[in-house]
Order: sequence, then structure tokens, then C-alpha cells
Amino acid sequence: MKIKLSKKCPTCLRDFQWRKKWTKNWENVIYCSERCRRRRRNQKIIMNNSPT
Ligand SMILES: [Zn+2]
Repeated sequence: MKIKLSKKCPTCLRDFQWRKKWTKNWENVIYCSERCRRRRRNQKIIMNNSPT
């Protein structure tokens, strides 16, 4: 079983490295930080292109 030590954050699109605090839940880590996690969640899709 191989564990990747770096992932790409879908919010800021940066690669982030494994951290000690993620030892137990690295598989579930998606975002590089809590900040990105919230940001992703709060993202709104604005649709101003409604056809007339
Ligand atoms: Zn991020």
C-alpha cells in the first residue's frame, strides 16, 4: 500500500504536503487547510447570463 505524501487542493490549486497532524486521516484530507475547506463550501455560482 502506497501513501501519497502530497495532494492538490481543489480550492487554491496548490500542492500541499503531508503533515503530522494528518497522520490518522490523511486519506480523508482534501483541502490544504481549513480555510480552503470553508472557502470551497461558501463558493457561490453567480448566473448572470440568463437568456432573454
Ligand atoms: Zn488550499
